[in-house]
Parts: sequence; structure tokens; C-alpha cells
Amino acid sequence: MSQQMLIAGGSVLNPASYTFAPADIVVSGDTIDAIVAPGSVGSDGRKVVDASSKLVIPGLVNGHNHAQTNLSKGIADRWTLEILLNHAPWTGGRRTLDEKYLSAAIGACEMLRKGCTASYDMFAEFPLPTIEGVNAVAQAYADVGIRASIAPMMADRSFYEAIPGLIDALPEPLREQALAIRFSPFPQSVAVCRELAEDWKFDRMQIRPALGPTIPHHCSDEFLQACGELGRELDLGLQMHVAESKLQAVVARKRYGKSLVAHLDTLGLLKPGFCVAHGVWLDDEDRTRLADQGASVSHNPGSNMKLGSGLADTRSMLARGVNLALGTDGAGSSDNLNMFEAMRLASFVSRVHDRDSSQWLSTREVLRAATEGGAKALGFEGMIGRLEAGYKADIVLLDLGAPHYVPLNDPVNQIVHCEDGTGVHTVIAGGRVLLEAGRFTAFDFDALRARAATAVARLSEVNRASRALSEQLEPYVNQYCSGLAATPLHVAGFCSH
Ligand SMILES: [Zn+2]
Repeated sequence: MSQQMLIAGGSVLNPASYTFAPADIVVSGDTIDAIVAPGSVGSDGRKVVDASSKLVIPGLVNGHNHAQTNLSKGIADRWTLEILLNHAPWTGGRRTLDEKYLSAAIGACEMLRKGCTASYDMFAEFPLPTIEGVNAVAQAYADVGIRASIAPMMADRSFYEAIPGLIDALPEPLREQALAIRFSPFPQSVAVCRELAEDWKFDRMQIRPALGPTIPHHCSDEFLQACGELGRELDLGLQMHVAESKLQAVVARKRYGKSLVAHLDTLGLLKPGFCVAHGVWLDDEDRTRLADQGASVSHNPGSNMKLGSGLADTRSMLARGVNLALGTDGAGSSDNLNMFEAMRLASFVSRVHDRDSSQWLSTREVLRAATEGGAKALGFEGMIGRLEAGYKADIVLLDLGAPHYVPLNDPVNQIVHCEDGTGVHTVIAGGRVLLEAGRFTAFDFDALRARAATAVARLSEVNRASRALSEQLEPYVNQYCSGLAATPLHVAGFCSH
């Protein structure tokens, strides 16, 4: 028997006009049955959710995230992306299966608490993904109750091998120690992804498998082509970090003689199920290629600013027809999973490109990216991201009693520019109330705290030697990568910073 629910008395976001009007929402099972005039449908045995003095919006969608990083939030301050990658072996490594579940559950709870009901998760394991690890992460999302596309993050070159000249810039014995960090040959990773997808244990309407070859030049062309073929064969989404830092754009020209996007296009990877994470260092031709192939970009301004990566030109993406999603990135780089903050930052950073104010992102464009745009990027298009009959009942109620809505002048402006997550009152996902009055109703988050403390203590022991190596490597990595990143790109139409 599917549960019937009536969300009554709220002010509901209209998916066409992006304006709010009083309406009730009738939910049947996990789906929105109808959106009706206030009071026009009686409770008739339905569970009634009181939405009076609430703004009602679709659950937000996080376009880019990493489950393994939730145990390492706040661990670093002044790290670039390259320094972060140098430290990745110890910040995300040597996890037990229980710790993989735990890390994912903490992140899912943080997102839920802050009004997000779906996430694109590039979950990483070293030296290759495992069936049990990915299943543990998927189980965590299922237990917390939100949706996810889980793309095992993979490579067949280490960070040290991927950056031309970096290995040679390291002194011995560090060079030898860095060379010992090796990923598995790519056919093994592809085989795991095939087995996972062919024998997927979860409801694909809630949690679906995807592919995550991490960064183009961290993967051989043969690996990328194998991912593209598997994605086409099994209809899997594919997310990659593309042109996140300037160093990546410089390396692309050194390694491929063209941009990363042009190279991926040559390999046949661009398609509607393809999602770029970041896309900071793109040129106009790249954006046109992505738009022409129906690809998405997850814009992650918090991460880009924290790591000093630069600022993506979202107006140029939208102008060419790229599907724009918003994300937080992992807690190791952003360091929170707050989609309201991501929206606020996306709005603000769109204003720094020395353009007329009419070219800045509007708050409606930002809210659309964090809902419908994300839904398409995750492969849930037509299912989530809108409050409309037939869509899944993933619904967030924002409390108009929160100080940032007093007084209420323009709800969409205030959701994007004022809301910080503290106004999230109720969260419903798949027709289940998962958060009520800001408290978890279906998952024991408090039980995770002691487990997290134990896990961090254990991990600091088992990762001690790995951390020491990363710390010894850091000055050499930073000096070499900073020098290489200073290379001029000389690309016409390039977004300069
Ligand atoms: Zn990432």
C-alpha cells in the first residue's frame, strides 16, 4: 500500500514561472499526484504535512560530490587542487568497508539536513573500485533516503605520472616512492564497473550506477574509450573533472595539443549523459562542443574558490545551451555540502567577469540549475527537480519564520541570496518525511558521531606513513605545478582570471 500524503497550506514554487503561489500538493506513494488549489482536497485519511508559513520547493540536487571525503572535512586550509591530489592517498585512503559506508552516510545526512535530496557522487577507492565499496556507499544513500548517481572515481595513471615532467622534478628517494603509488590496469576497473552495473542491487529510480574516470590525463585514451563504450552499452552516465585548474588546461595542450574537451570529443565521450565537473578553464569552442553534444556542467564555485582554481564562466555556458548544474564538490575541498551556499556563490561569482549586469546569472537561473539542471546532469531528468504531477515527491519546506525571510520581499531572491540552510524545516524524499522541524526522523545521525571519531583515530594511525610521504612531496609538487600553471595559454576567447 503506497502512502497518501497531503502537503497543505504552503506557498509552492511554480515550475514554469518560478514564482510562488498558495497550493496544496497531493502525494501518492513516492510521486506527486496533483498540485491543487488550497483546501480543494480533503485529508481523507492522508497523512497531512502542515506547510503553512512555508515556502515549498523541489529538493535541491548536488551536481558533484565525493563520498569518501566526508571524514576529511576541514582537514586542510591553503591547498590548491594539486596539493590536494598529492595528499589524497592519506586523506581518503585505507578505509574499511564500514568507514566507506560511514563517510557516505555523514555526507548524505548533511545534504538532507540542508535541503538536498540527490547527489552525483564520484566515490573513490584505491587502486580500483570494488563492488563492496560502491555497494556500501549506495546502501548509505538508501538508508538515509536520498537519491544518488554513484560514479566510481577511477584512473590508470597516478597524479605524479599524469603531470608531464613532475616525476622527474622529484628528488630520490621521493621519486621512487611516488612511482610506487600505482592504480590498477584499466581493464580491471572497467570490469568492476560492468559487473556493478549489470548486477545493480538498488532501485535505479533512487540510486543508479555511473562511471567516473577522474581527470582526462589521469586516464589513458584506451581507458577513456572503454568507459565511453561501456557507458553507451549499459546506458550509464559519466562524470569527469574537466579543466578544473589552470594546470589541467596547460597539461592538455602539452599532452594532446588541444583542449581537454576537444580531446574528449575526439574520443567520442561527449553525449547527453556526460557531465563535466567544474569546467573552469574552458574556451568558447569547448562550451560550444559541450552544448552541441547535450552535455552538462556541474559548477562548483565554493570548491573553485577554496582551492584557488578560478571561476567558471556560467553565462557563456548558458548562452550556448550547456545544461548547468550546481555542486558543492567533496567535503575535502569545499568543505561543506550546502547547496544553498552553492547557489549564493554561483549567483555572486557570475558577476565578476566584467560584464553588463544583464549578463549576471539571475536568481531564477541559479535555482533552476540547482534543481532541474542537476536532475538532468544526474540522469534523473523528468523525475525530480520540479514540483509537478508525475514527478517524484522530493520536496523541501522552508520556514518563513526564519530571520532571513522576515520580511518576505522576493522569495526566489531570498532563497538564493539569504537562505543558508537554517530555514530548512521539512524534507520529503520519495514521499517519505525524512526531516521534520530540522530533525532527522528516519535515520539516526547521532549514532554516526562516535563511529566517526573512532574511524578518524584509526585512520590517522594507518595513514601515518602515507601522510608523511605526502608532506615530504608537497613542496616539490607545489613548486613544479605552480611553475607549469604559469604557462600562458594564448587561447582566443579564453576566460581569463
Ligand atoms: Zn571533485
